[in-house]
Amino acid sequence: MAPYFGQCLCGSVRYRVSKEPLTLYACHCTECQRRTGSAFALSLIVRRDDLQLVSGQTTGYSASLADGRTKSGQMCPSCGTRLWGTPAKYPGIVIVQPGTLEQPCHLVPIAHQWLSEAQPWFVPPPGVPAYPRGPADPGEFVRLWQQRKNES
Ligand SMILES: [Zn+2]
Ligand SMILES: [Zn+2]
Repeated sequence: MAPYFGQCLCGSVRYRVSKEPLTLYACHCTECQRRTGSAFALSLIVRRDDLQLVSGQTTGYSASLADGRTKSGQMCPSCGTRLWGTPAKYPGIVIVQPGTLEQPCHLVPIAHQWLSEAQPWFVPPPGVPAYPRGPADPGEFVRLWQQRKNES
């Protein structure tokens, strides 16, 4: 249960998520693989007002993509850990990197998207919705998250 605490690799930046997140999903698109240097990204959607810096300072990063979009967010200036993204289209939310949380293991992704670009060895867990691309309506993952919460 909230609050959740997180930090960067070197520990100079610490933050808190004060309320329950809106959803958590995994994205297997090529951009997320490059951004994370890994096989897929986990995205924990949190209201911007529910994220507080506890100690240290973050610094902004930003990447201009070939198609004109810009991906930006905050990272630790010392160790370079990316902590959260700040989507220009949705200023009311931040996308926390849940791997930086202290105990992220109880947060299970509600869905997997962009399976069309996933590493060939990846098999989505049984019973978890998987999409070849993204869902048509970005609110779908929020609804699925709420639904699972109500069922448990
Ligand atoms: Zn750091
Ligand atoms: Zn992605």
